[in-house]
Amino acid sequence: MSYQSELYQQVILDHNKKPRNFRPLENPTHSCDGHNPLCGDEITIYLKLNKDMMVEEISFSGSGCAISKASASLMTTHVKGKSVEEVKIMFDEFHRMIRGEFDPDKNKHHLGRLTIFIGVREFPSRTKCASLAWHTLICALDRKGEAYTE
Ligand code: ZN
Repeated sequence: MSYQSELYQQVILDHNKKPRNFRPLENPTHSCDGHNPLCGDEITIYLKLNKDMMVEEISFSGSGCAISKASASLMTTHVKGKSVEEVKIMFDEFHRMIRGEFDPDKNKHHLGRLTIFIGVREFPSRTKCASLAWHTLICALDRKGEAYTE
């Protein structure tokens, strides 16, 4: 196993066992339900934006496979404190990275540790598990109240 995929497995295991920000949020300003029928992942993202359009709080609830849960967990730790604009840039880079269209080793990026999800490229059927939390986050920001299905 390569170093990269070993790191990927480790982070997935860790965040699956101890998901960060795994609870519903009281009085969120934005939320959305996401569903990935291919795998059965269900997730709800809760957000509190402040008046400067920064993510003040973010959390998630739901049930799903290890990848979807770990991706949601890691996402919440990375977007907290970011502006909506930055979140959208991160989403775009993340989405293109797991589809093999963006190489964080060769380009400037805003992904930080999220780059470990490049490992999901080795399991193409699981990319939707990794991106569900992100699509659901964007859904919460853009279309308040509607559900997202992969
Ligand atoms: Zn899944």
